[in-house]
Amino acid sequence: MPNRQKLTYHTIFLGAPGSGKGTAASRLGAYLRIPHISTGDMLRESVASSTDLGTRVKAVMEQGLLVNDEIMRELVKDRLQRADCRKGFILDGFPRTIAQGKALDEILAESHKRLDFVFVMEIEENALVRRLSNRRICPQCGRVYNLIGLKPRQEGLCDDHPVALIQREDDREETIRKRMTVYRENTLPLIEYYRNRYLIVTVNSDATIDKTVEVVVNTVLERDSTLRKKEEEV
Ligand code: ADP
Repeated sequence: MPNRQKLTYHTIFLGAPGSGKGTAASRLGAYLRIPHISTGDMLRESVASSTDLGTRVKAVMEQGLLVNDEIMRELVKDRLQRADCRKGFILDGFPRTIAQGKALDEILAESHKRLDFVFVMEIEENALVRRLSNRRICPQCGRVYNLIGLKPRQEGLCDDHPVALIQREDDREETIRKRMTVYRENTLPLIEYYRNRYLIVTVNSDATIDKTVEVVVNTVLERDSTLRKKEEEV
């Protein structure tokens, strides 16, 4: 029996706001039992608890602009060093600029790691605006609903808590358009950056959430089985 190589799951999701990357990332994290790290959620938590970081980033986030690369690098570096990331992680919302992509490669290289999966969620812009303006969130647990596709059982209430759902500050139409522009200008170039370094998997996220998640999970399972087969051939 050949020595089994440890399979790792260092994963990132790229995609416009509303492309469904958060939902797919969270489902994949639960499936693989590795942390789903949403930088947007981390920043929103800092704002809600008025930490130093929260006070510094609040206004930038409300305008749909990007938080400074250096702040983001430190935040992510600290998080990836935690023990629960040993087998892998699902990063959602980072990197968002070429500088952040380079920073992530450096952080990983310091511990002789590299990315295993780069997923790019693709969807049309009109569908995005429709999705985002209908997005609602439970202020208590962060669970995400959508008034079109992913309704709560009881109108306006979280399925898990008797709490009224809210709309995110930056999910208003004008701010959504701003976030799209920021995405096109800063994050789209990252796809080219990765195309030259890693195998990119493009996922059509106009499909249902279950279908989208199935494509993502199957990609991971296929990689695992290919690696295992190769080992057995040795
Ligand atoms: P979405 O992807 O739906 O726009 P997120 O929840 O990922 O939303 O992020 C919300 C906001 O948090 C962003 O608009 C930005 O202000 C800030 N943010 C999150 N991640 C980053 C990042 N990697 N770099 C800079 N700013 C970020």
